[in-house]
Amino acid sequence: MNRKIDKILKSQPTIEGAGVNLKRAFGYDEVPLLDPFLLLDDFRSDDPDDYIAGFPWHPHRGIETVTYMLEGRVEHGDSMGNKGIIGAGDVQWMTAGSGIIHQEMPKGSNGRMGGFQLWVNLPSRHKMMDPSYREVKNEQIPEVLKDKGVTIRIISGEVNNKRGPVRDIVVDIEYLDITLENGTEFEHTIKKGYRVFAYVIEGSGYFDPEKKRNIGRENLVIFKDGNDVKIAANDRILRFLLISGKPIGEPVAWGGPIVMNTQEELQLAFDEYRNGTFIKE
Ligand code: MN
Repeated sequence: MNRKIDKILKSQPTIEGAGVNLKRAFGYDEVPLLDPFLLLDDFRSDDPDDYIAGFPWHPHRGIETVTYMLEGRVEHGDSMGNKGIIGAGDVQWMTAGSGIIHQEMPKGSNGRMGGFQLWVNLPSRHKMMDPSYREVKNEQIPEVLKDKGVTIRIISGEVNNKRGPVRDIVVDIEYLDITLENGTEFEHTIKKGYRVFAYVIEGSGYFDPEKKRNIGRENLVIFKDGNDVKIAANDRILRFLLISGKPIGEPVAWGGPIVMNTQEELQLAFDEYRNGTFIKE
């Protein structure tokens, strides 16, 4: 049975970090609708004033953040001593676990910068795991031609027996960047019981098997439970993220960049951040 559309949300302008103008596809207000996912930000812009202030030093605990760049780059550094650049097409998959303090500073390319940051929740038994991160370069991400006119970049998960480079992560996630030529269709199996959403990067198309509604750029499509998703491009190229994961089903206590299970854990995290014992090493 094809999955039907549960909800469609339009991403909303939000200010984050030191004054970055971005669009939020979903976040705090949607919990627990997208469990195991907490937040998706779309920070594409052709105006440096939107992004140059960046995200100076700030903590995270209890989550994973996944940054996927389309254009420009983000210079980052963290409390583990890591330093680097996430460039166009690259992915940084960061497990904050018990705690990381980092900064993320966007730099444009000819004024343009853009990408997405997804927050994945961690189950209670992994919230205080050791922090780690993996950096995946553009050329390490396999691109498969699934059918004629259907191109898929596999960041995590498996398509046509090709596996994405991000593996062995805590929550079972599939993260795909899919481009459909006009008039083409795409069908893909999602495990039953898993949450799945699509976020439209460019163009427009149909996300329900009956093709009732043409859905365009910056819309988030959340699917109901079932098996396959069936997606079709309209008269233009359609590019979208298709992301699915196994729900965690635990209480969420969320304060800014820290997401725990209880208010006490949240309070402890902020107390530790204030008194300098946040980083566990
Ligand atoms: Mn951050």
